[in-house]
Amino acid sequence: MFLMPDQDAISLTKALLRFETVNPPGRERDCARYAGAMLEEWGFNVDYYEYADSRTSVIARAGGSDRKAPLCLTGHLDVVPLGARKWSKDPFSGETDGDKLYGRGSSDMKAGVAAILLAARAYGKRLGGTPGVVIVLTAAEEGGCIGSAQLAKTQLLGSAGAMIVGEPTSNYPLVGHKGSIKFHARFKGVSAHGSMPELGVNAIYKAAKAVAKLEKFRFGTPRHPVMGRPTLNVGTIEGGNTVNAVPDAASFGVDIRTVPGMDHERVLKKIRSSLKEAEIDVFSNLKPVWTAPDEEWIQRVFEICKPYVGKPKARTAPYMTDAANLLKVYAGVPTVVLGPGEAAMAHQTDEYASQERIREAVAIYESLIRDWCRP
Ligand SMILES: [Zn+2]
Repeated sequence: MFLMPDQDAISLTKALLRFETVNPPGRERDCARYAGAMLEEWGFNVDYYEYADSRTSVIARAGGSDRKAPLCLTGHLDVVPLGARKWSKDPFSGETDGDKLYGRGSSDMKAGVAAILLAARAYGKRLGGTPGVVIVLTAAEEGGCIGSAQLAKTQLLGSAGAMIVGEPTSNYPLVGHKGSIKFHARFKGVSAHGSMPELGVNAIYKAAKAVAKLEKFRFGTPRHPVMGRPTLNVGTIEGGNTVNAVPDAASFGVDIRTVPGMDHERVLKKIRSSLKEAEIDVFSNLKPVWTAPDEEWIQRVFEICKPYVGKPKARTAPYMTDAANLLKVYAGVPTVVLGPGEAAMAHQTDEYASQERIREAVAIYESLIRDWCRP
């Protein structure tokens, strides 16, 4: 069997890096089964969920009591593609140089998954009669959090009382991130020969006017004290087939990032009424993740992280996480984004993680489990 009882955080990160889980296409199954088999060995009840072939997520539980829901630790198993630039290190073998451990997904976020697993190993068999722990390892996080969205539609997640998302933060506890609304706006026209545009209706002109409107779009939302303002970006545009015809279709893609307190339905209503001619097709709609920094458990997390990062201040992550989907089930639970990877290394060529921070993350997660499950 592939289980090594004395495996440390670094060798486990390397073992996870060797599973090629580049998304697309993903293929997290082998990596998920490897993690799940270990968790089972360490006293966890393990479920798998595949929303599509080979797109496997793991849900593992230990302990549990009526008095308090378990602590959730979550991370994703997929990694982004290598990119166009050539790597100077092997992206999948776990090469090291001093403190640096290289590999695609080292920071984002197999180091985080390894730290979660090792903290789980330390406590798996000692959680009986305590609130316990639920470990959620997701497929298909990169490119839209699809794995967690599918998982949230099942009954497998159960309940949780607080959540730690092991995405790269250099072990700094972050109290949330913005939400997002992503949509395509589609416009129809009437085709005609390019030499007689007066006989047609130009869909590109409609789309262009709408884009100009969106550039000036104002949310009318007060500035959030930590996250700042919501943003809007038009990221793609398409239209027409040939230069000598009036285009009868055009569309563009929009990414809105929202802050706590915004009502997504109201935002969409405002967008729809300002783009009257568009057909709006929303393909992602995720609320912001936010826990007030003075919340009791967040204060405990800050206290536990203090020896490693100094006294934490209220900060949020620049990126989205699976928490936005998991909170559909674990509604309202305090949530931190806290993991050993380096945020600046995510998605980079020659991505690396700090071995020291990986070891520290194991200690932090262990303290958080101990703290949550104390009698
Ligand atoms: Zn990530």
